[in-house]
Amino acid sequence: MLCLRCGKREQFADNICEQCLMDTVHPVKTQPVVHGTVCPTCNRILKGRSWDECAGEVSDAACQVALLSLIKHEDIRFPEIELSVDNYSGNVFRISGHARSNYKGVFLENDLSTEVRLSLAQCPFCSKRSGNYFEAILQIRGLEGLSEDEIEKLLNHINDSTEKIHLKDPNVFISRFEKVRGGYDFYMGENSFTKQMAQKLHDTYGGEAKWSSSLFGRKGGRDIYRHTYLVRLPGFVVGDYLIREEDTLKVIKIARRIMVRSLKTSRDEALDHAVAMEMRKMKKNEIEVDLVIISHDDTEIQVLHPTTFVTTVLLLEGRKPEGETIKGALIEGDLYLV
Ligand SMILES: [Zn+2]
Ligand SMILES: [Zn+2]
Repeated sequence: MLCLRCGKREQFADNICEQCLMDTVHPVKTQPVVHGTVCPTCNRILKGRSWDECAGEVSDAACQVALLSLIKHEDIRFPEIELSVDNYSGNVFRISGHARSNYKGVFLENDLSTEVRLSLAQCPFCSKRSGNYFEAILQIRGLEGLSEDEIEKLLNHINDSTEKIHLKDPNVFISRFEKVRGGYDFYMGENSFTKQMAQKLHDTYGGEAKWSSSLFGRKGGRDIYRHTYLVRLPGFVVGDYLIREEDTLKVIKIARRIMVRSLKTSRDEALDHAVAMEMRKMKKNEIEVDLVIISHDDTEIQVLHPTTFVTTVLLLEGRKPEGETIKGALIEGDLYLV
C-alpha cells in the first residue's frame, strides 16, 4: 500500500510512509515560554506543592524546568532529550536542545527551543534554616579530657553527619553553633536526628546522657516542644589511662560499662561509667613510651629503662614483640608493658 499522504512510498505506520511520519509527527513539543520557581539558596524547584532537588546551578534548574514542561506524544518510547542554556539575561533563559525518540518503530528527531522565566523564592527548608529555627539542642560537655585534635574530630563528626543527612532530609541541619562554658551547643533543625546523634555519641564516648523536653508553645492545635540532649563525655577515650590507688588502668573499650586492663596484673575488669569518671585520668601520650628491646624469648623481654638506662625484665603476657621497640608505660619510675 502506498502512503496516503505522498502516494510515493510504501506505508510504514498510520497509513503513511516513514518520511511523512518524520515530517508530520512531533514526538516532543515545547511551549514558547515556561515559568518556574527556584530556591536561590539550595536550587530546589517548586513542582506542584513540593520542592524537588536539583543538582548544579540555577541554569541547571532552568533546564530542569524546561524538561518538566515538555509535551511528549503518547505513542513515543525511549525519548532521549538533551537541553542546554544558549544564553540568559537575569532570570530569563533561552534554552534549546534535541529530542530523539522511537515512534512505532521509526526513530524521529526534533529540535527543541523554549524560554524559561524563573522566579526566585526561598523554599521552606532554607527559610527555616535562615530563620534560626530549631527543634532540639545538642549539648556536648566534659571535653576537658580530650586533646584539641580529639575535640576537632568530634565537632567535625557532628557537622559532617548532619550535612550528609541534610542532603536526604532537608529538615536536618545545624541552625546555630555556640561555644559555651564547658563545651558546645548545637541548635538542630530536627529532633529525631538529634536524638539519634546524641545516642550515638553517648555509645561511642561513654559518660553520661540526659534528655529533657520543655513546652515551647502551640502551633496548629499541637503542643510544640523543644528538646535538649546533654551528652557529658567521661573525660577519657579508648587508649587513655585511669589511676586507681596503687594501680594504673588502660581503657580498652567503652560500652555500657568501661572495660579497663590493669597494668600491674594485666587483668581486665568492667567499671561503671560514674566510677570511672571519678578517677584521675591520664592521656595516652602522658604515660606511654617506646621501650628499646634488648632481647626477648616467648615469656620475657629485656628492655632499656628510659630514664635510668638499666636493663629491665618484663613479662610478655602473650605479647609478640616486633621491631626494635615495644610500647610501655612509665609510672612513678616503674615500667609496664601496655
Ligand atoms: Zn509519504
Ligand atoms: Zn532552598
